[in-house]
Amino acid sequence: MYRTHNCGALSLEHLNQKVTLSGWVQKNRNKGFIIWIDLRDRYGITQLVLDEERTPKSIFDSAQGLGREFVIQVQGTVIERESKNPNITTGAIEVLVEDLKILNPSKTPPFTIENETDGGEELRMQYRYLDLRRNPVKANLLFRHQVSMAVRNYLSKDGFIDVETPYLIKSTPEGARDFVVPSRMNEGQFYALPQSPQTFKQLLMVGGLDKYFQIVKCFRDEDLRADRQPEFTQIDCEMAFVEQEDILAQFEGLTRHLLKEIKGIDIADFPRITYDEAIKTYGNDKPDIRFEMKFCELNAVAQGKGFGVFDSQELVVGISVPGAAEMSRKEIDALIDWVKRPQIGAKGLVYVKCNADGSFKSSVDKFFSPEDLSTWATHCQAKAGDLILILSGEIKTTRTQLSALRMEMATRLGLRKPEVFAPLWITDFPLLEWDEESKRFHAMHHPFTAPKPEHLDLLKTDPAAVKANAYDLVLNGNEIGGGSIRIHDQELQSQMFDLLGFTKEEAQAQFGFLMDAFQFGAPPHGGIAFGLDRLVAILGGEETIRDFIAFPKNNSGRDVMIDAPAPLDALQLKELNLKTTSTDKE
Ligand code: ASP
Repeated sequence: MYRTHNCGALSLEHLNQKVTLSGWVQKNRNKGFIIWIDLRDRYGITQLVLDEERTPKSIFDSAQGLGREFVIQVQGTVIERESKNPNITTGAIEVLVEDLKILNPSKTPPFTIENETDGGEELRMQYRYLDLRRNPVKANLLFRHQVSMAVRNYLSKDGFIDVETPYLIKSTPEGARDFVVPSRMNEGQFYALPQSPQTFKQLLMVGGLDKYFQIVKCFRDEDLRADRQPEFTQIDCEMAFVEQEDILAQFEGLTRHLLKEIKGIDIADFPRITYDEAIKTYGNDKPDIRFEMKFCELNAVAQGKGFGVFDSQELVVGISVPGAAEMSRKEIDALIDWVKRPQIGAKGLVYVKCNADGSFKSSVDKFFSPEDLSTWATHCQAKAGDLILILSGEIKTTRTQLSALRMEMATRLGLRKPEVFAPLWITDFPLLEWDEESKRFHAMHHPFTAPKPEHLDLLKTDPAAVKANAYDLVLNGNEIGGGSIRIHDQELQSQMFDLLGFTKEEAQAQFGFLMDAFQFGAPPHGGIAFGLDRLVAILGGEETIRDFIAFPKNNSGRDVMIDAPAPLDALQLKELNLKTTSTDKE
């Protein structure tokens, strides 16, 4: 038997018991006549002690040579520690070692395996299995396990069944490129790895499964943006005989449950706002509503007063920053530089200080009277002590810029508190998005999303105005889930493909199976998928999803531990009927 207890189990209760422990040597402190070893496993750390008097000599001698990360097994007696460590569960005891076996030696690890490590990111990724031994990384994986079990239990209790869908499939359009896998047996043909199980979960509904979920890997070959992984995990769900309201209620329930179970938080408000409202009020469709600073449009009160910068613009819009009127000239200048950086791209920034004494000081005092500024303040619901920041320009860009400024100000003011959770639904997304480059409509969500029934007529006359029964779940400024009610009518699905620029043949070749299925009694259905990696990171109060993935890829999409992707050898390429590179002779 390798162990009677784990390294986190022993306490004063076990005094004088004979025990066997196994684990890794975290630290070996050799004082000459006495040796202390910190023995670590997943469950904790137990201090071992060996001394010249009480420990057999051969055992004492072999303990001298134990390096960091050696795997050992010891037998000994639990004794009370003289100087106790209240920070760990085993801190009141130590094990007086009577026998010791080295189960496996270790090379000196390339970085220290402790809570605070000296290893850089890349090195830790290369030796991820060593990084996993560190408490913070291990704790993140345990946390992820907790979240995914809570999801499974909740959904299973509500009648959802976990069904696996295939990984070797045909392309599913979720807006990214596919990763493809060549088929050896079908020369010149390729599988695609699923960007999501979208079509399969719809077919499960046609198959009568009624409520499906799966915690599933999805693959998207996107240009890498910070904190995106080419493979990621979704909590994928679908339900039959539902309307949008049923789905929102079901998954609001899941979200509330998770926040309660994992964080102990009861959510009071779970607002719903439309996409149009979100864009108008926050400048984006994943607003962080842990704080206010809603947009106030000022065209009506700020234009036509002779200030050319505002007069010629499509939109004049501001936010009221709470308690920021005290900002110094220098700080405001720095803020102006901040919005002018190419990443934000604003031409300038107008400010109005709503002073504590009720007076106003602005950067446009020459053009606007105190009464004007007071009207703006009323519009922006600014109170004495607040600072109004105003941008102007073309509608879309100005909103995007102000949205970035809003987030920046919230960060500076400490309003983005990781321990506060503010979920909301965004509903009524546009069905289609015009793409200037290809001069075509794209599906904003995906081509299977149903238009709002009351907008069906608009599909022919004004497709851009059609709204969809599509929704996103947003948490603290992050989109953590998204879904829609689906089209279940073959005619409508076919019309949708037309709109998206597919020829009849293309649509048939790619999605004939789905349109066929729709002709055999497809029930009305809809669903949603959550990004598990991001959800776990947010619940864990952190930004980077990589910290919650056991074996993540780096920013260039590489696994630096196994060194993938990698070239294939000529034989493998030949078997797969893939062309070898020009330097190969074959
Ligand atoms: N398949 C969609 C996605 O990956 C989610 C859904 O519509 O259920 O975003």
